[in-house]
Amino acid sequence: MPRLRAGRVILQFGDGGLILLAPSVEAAVARFLSDAEIRLEAGGIFVGSHRGPHVEITACTTPLPRDVRRPTLFDRRDPGHSAAALEAWTRSGGTETFVGEWHTHPVDDPMPSGLDRRTWASIMGRVPDPVVFLIAGRRSVWCAHGWRGELRRAAVLDGE
Ligand SMILES: [Zn+2]
Repeated sequence: MPRLRAGRVILQFGDGGLILLAPSVEAAVARFLSDAEIRLEAGGIFVGSHRGPHVEITACTTPLPRDVRRPTLFDRRDPGHSAAALEAWTRSGGTETFVGEWHTHPVDDPMPSGLDRRTWASIMGRVPDPVVFLIAGRRSVWCAHGWRGELRRAAVLDGE
C-alpha cells in the first residue's frame, strides 16, 4: 500500500476532492497485505466524516468471525461492521458514520471484479452520501469515490 509522510494516505478524485486516510487506517489495511494474510481476501468498512466535497476516514473495521474469507472473495457478513458504524455515529453525535468499504485482492495491482461493482452499486443505492471504495493489493490500491451510482476514480497524491 502506498505510504505518505506521517503514514497518512491522501487520494484525489474529480476536481480536487480529497479522500484522507488516517495512519491507523492505512496500518490496519496494510496488515492484511502480508504474505500470510493476502492468501485470503480481507475487508471491512470505513468510518469517518464528510467535509465539504472531501471524505476523511478516521477508522476502519477488519475481518470479524462471521465474515467469509476466501482466496478470491471477501463477504462482509458479520453484523459487527454495521454495529461499529452505528457506535461511531452515536458516540460522535452524528458526525462520524459509514463512509465506505475496503477489501484486499491477492495481486500486485488490483482491479474491481464484476461482483465488486455490483456490490458497490447496491451500497450507493442505499447510502445517500458519498462513499469510498478501496481495493488494496501488494503494490497499489484501486480507489473510487462513489455517489448517486457514479464512481469517480481516485489517485494517490504525492507518490509513495
Ligand atoms: Zn474484489
